Amino acid sequence: MMITQYDEKEGYCKMLGHFLTFDYCRSVSNGLPCSKVLDCWFQDFPIQAFIDQNYTTEEQQKIFAPQKPKILSLSEILEQAQKRLKENKD
Ligand code: SF4
Repeated sequence: MMITQYDEKEGYCKMLGHFLTFDYCRSVSNGLPCSKVLDCWFQDFPIQAFIDQNYTTEEQQKIFAPQKPKILSLSEILEQAQKRLKENKD
């Protein structure tokens, strides 16, 4: 199966709010597919087989790695804000 085989397939991206072609979806994340690629394309072609045949286990782990929990990002923001406050006091 060629990696470009489905590049011309067109679908609506809920994330971006417009139509796009699969070549975008399969390369959007530093050359790797978007993490939503299975959800978005399973009705159009055998996307799971495409992923299995074109990406290593390590790459698949990167593609589908869970997003950083929001609470962690929030605590990072708080931490930075506290740092800035402290710096302003000094
Ligand atoms: S795979 Fe990602 S970029 Fe492609 S249509 Fe779905 S959400 Fe949009």
